[in-house]
Amino acid sequence: MSDFLTDSFGRPLEYLRLAVTDRCNLRCFYCMPAEGIDYVDRKDLLSYEDMLRLTRIFVSLGVNKIRLTGGEPFVRKNFYGFLKRLTKIDGLDQIAITTNGAVASRHISFLKEIGITSINLSLDTLNKERYEQITRKDFFDQAMETYHAVLAAGIKLSVNMVVMEGKNIDDIVPMAMLTKDDNVTVRFIEEMPFNGSGLRETIGFNHKKILETLHAGLPTMNPVVFKEGTTAQEYTIEGHKGKIGIIAAYTRTFCSSCNRIRVTATGEMRNCLYDQGVLNLKRLLTDGSSDQMICEAIKEGYSKKHKDGREAEAARLTVVSESMSSIGG
Ligand code: SAM
Ligand code: SF4
Repeated sequence: MSDFLTDSFGRPLEYLRLAVTDRCNLRCFYCMPAEGIDYVDRKDLLSYEDMLRLTRIFVSLGVNKIRLTGGEPFVRKNFYGFLKRLTKIDGLDQIAITTNGAVASRHISFLKEIGITSINLSLDTLNKERYEQITRKDFFDQAMETYHAVLAAGIKLSVNMVVMEGKNIDDIVPMAMLTKDDNVTVRFIEEMPFNGSGLRETIGFNHKKILETLHAGLPTMNPVVFKEGTTAQEYTIEGHKGKIGIIAAYTRTFCSSCNRIRVTATGEMRNCLYDQGVLNLKRLLTDGSSDQMICEAIKEGYSKKHKDGREAEAARLTVVSESMSSIGG
């Protein structure tokens, strides 16, 4: 069953982003309303067995990197046991996790031990009070503990900062300064409209404004050649150990080399963050379909991948309003 997959524009499928839950212990205002979102019934979530089987199938189609996301992956029961089993799957060169870091700090050495290759930590400010305003929860100290634990363990660390006009613009340069002494990549992400309400449609602060702000504070930045299949335009800064990156997630400048696919916590396959889903994998995983049948369905679904996120959004039947927590950011 080795049949490496490309879409109709010749882009290979190499990278799976799997949401292990839609639940979260924070309420980041750019991701969900204060009262939270309606979580799906637990029985509608993919089981760990489903996820392991799916991962093996995706690997047989060419996937060599997986990112576990959510919701907050570390709030799902037995997540560590699942990770251990995942690391045993042959063919995965990279196993990455995106987390808010609120409950992960004490287990980082275990993650290193089992071979987790990188962690993306979401952190939108270095100011504790502002952190509470943005996330609506008091986990700043825990998130920073996770930051230091990941560095100490020697796991590759990226920090994700969503840039929001009127909220954290004056955090941009201080966040970039983390790279001075720490071997970390700090990535500045354009805010997208996936906030569970459909409000705040346009972003005020795009990648160009982020770059201008960084240039003003850090004159010695040098661009790194853009790596196909990634989303961040990275920069080195003279004298700094780490790097910075800008992700034009709303402007969508990187779609031409997109190599990824998403599976939501309920098993919906999405070719793009901006599409509405192309395949119900949960149904296939539970109706007796063989791996070969699931492979064929994935191939057909992947062939529907749009040229870029703009086209994917234009083809939607409803406007973007989902929470990133239910898609898997
Ligand atoms: N709970 C984990 C976390 O926050 O890292 C993983 C899931 S979260 C949905 C994944 C990523 O999506 C985070 O880095 C978060 O900052 C980002 N994100 C969520 N909503 C966003 C939005 N509206 N625009 C841009 N990025 C967003
Ligand atoms: Fe939770 Fe992550 Fe969404 Fe924040 S961004 S509410 S931590 S899922």
